[in-house]
Amino acid sequence: MKNIFHFIGGKEFSGGSDRFSNIYNPATGEVQAKVNLATSSEVDHAVNIALKAFQEWSNTPPISRARILFKFKELIEKNSDTLTKLIVSEHGKVYDDAKGSLTRGLEVVEFSCGIPHLLKGEFTENVGKNVDSWSIRQPLGVCAGITPFNFPAMVPMWMFPISIACGNTFILKPSEKDPSCSMMLADLLKQAGLPDGVFNVINGDKDVVDAILTHKDVSAISFVGSTGVAKYIYENAAKNEKRVQALGGAKNHCVVMPDADIDQAVNGLIGAAYGSAGERCMAQSVAVAVGKIGDELVKKLAQKVEALKVGPGMDKTSEMGPLVTKEHLERVRGYVDLGVKEGAELIVDGRELKLQGYENGFYFGGCLFDKVTDNMKIYKEEIFGPVLSVVRVNDFNSAVDLINNHEYGNGTSIFTRDGDSARTFSNRIKVGMVGVNIPIPVPMAFHSFGGWKRSLFGDHHMHGLEGVRFYTKLKTVTSRWPSGIKDNPEFIMPTMK
Ligand code: NAD
Repeated sequence: MKNIFHFIGGKEFSGGSDRFSNIYNPATGEVQAKVNLATSSEVDHAVNIALKAFQEWSNTPPISRARILFKFKELIEKNSDTLTKLIVSEHGKVYDDAKGSLTRGLEVVEFSCGIPHLLKGEFTENVGKNVDSWSIRQPLGVCAGITPFNFPAMVPMWMFPISIACGNTFILKPSEKDPSCSMMLADLLKQAGLPDGVFNVINGDKDVVDAILTHKDVSAISFVGSTGVAKYIYENAAKNEKRVQALGGAKNHCVVMPDADIDQAVNGLIGAAYGSAGERCMAQSVAVAVGKIGDELVKKLAQKVEALKVGPGMDKTSEMGPLVTKEHLERVRGYVDLGVKEGAELIVDGRELKLQGYENGFYFGGCLFDKVTDNMKIYKEEIFGPVLSVVRVNDFNSAVDLINNHEYGNGTSIFTRDGDSARTFSNRIKVGMVGVNIPIPVPMAFHSFGGWKRSLFGDHHMHGLEGVRFYTKLKTVTSRWPSGIKDNPEFIMPTMK
């Protein structure tokens, strides 16, 4: 059985912790490896190494940092098949989907290669007579990233490429369910020429997270995961005087207007609700059917959900893979059972799916609920599985109110042919990422990713310019050279003449 430890100071590291957690192959249900769960002393060791590396790295010219990231980009491309297979084997999602998520992470590396341009700052000549002023962005120090299981490559890559491009050093604490991608990315960074100690991976659970939260030499924390933990991270990082961005859970609504191209909406919804078995923070888990479109929408969705091809992620014909663990599968099943009890109509029931030859895998068939109402738990809470709920409303304003009253505000979409509805929706909706006839409106790397309300705690979204702002602090210098003019002491607030 393979044991996975940590990557600290440019090499694999084991600090002697005897706690381990199982890593499953969700397609077969087998334990395929064990990951070591670090203690606070290993966290301390990693932070000390990263702090030491910061001195040299923060003084390395941005163009030299960018060149290492260029090399890293080439290495990811060269090793993309291996990285993709690691995602499939530990997470379970299908190969092409896993590859797509890797590409979305790679795009942040590409964005980070432009760091010399992004860090140029601002300059004003003669802000006062013979006085110049300029603003620069400087790195923070040791930054940490704590990431979820559902995107083992992409979400870490939302964080560390920009952070290290800005001159910080980084400690990544990936999900203990699928840590292998992070370990391989650390190795590729080393091959790309990144100095030892600039990027480190420390595996573990809550103990490691708490040690990061309270360590005096960690300057900033980026978190992505469930809302309860995001709030905990936000509060405790702030209490310990750290900069923090904490992205949480979601319940994304897709509004289908009566004038929508129904086939486009149905295909969009099927991919967005059932892709990656619904284990995406941008999954569309609620379809809001406006007016008379409800019956036709449910009928067409049901046909496609029944026809979903569920199977192992490495099978090219699979459209949807297994869930990540048995525990998560039971949680999703619990929600479907609850929905039936709450009085929603279960139109397609995927609970009893069994795959021949893969009886122990964590498979769950697609489920479709109709007549879901806003007082039901299955509407209010994030299920994070292949379950789509249809809520019927009478008009556009009711759809907008429904979404604006929900506690989450990550992503949303509207399917319509009407420009006025689309524009009013984009303007009034209290959600961070909006799609118009686009089912999964995940922003590209040079824009920024983030939700509103209880989907994000903190001031900054991730990647793009928001990432550069998060991972740097601003300094403004005002300067004048001696010019022979003698100054008298001034006791009033200086103003420029
Ligand atoms: P999770 O919150 O269980 O775990 C996330 C990270 O926090 C992991 O590294 C885990 O080890 C750590 N953690 C777990 N419990 C902790 C605790 N009690 N104290 C301290 N640390 C703890 O999330 P998950 O199940 O891995 O991922 C799924 C969740 O992530 C979903 O809610 C999904 O919506 C969310 N997510 C959000 C986004 C976004 O951009 N908003 C993106 C991806 C995933």
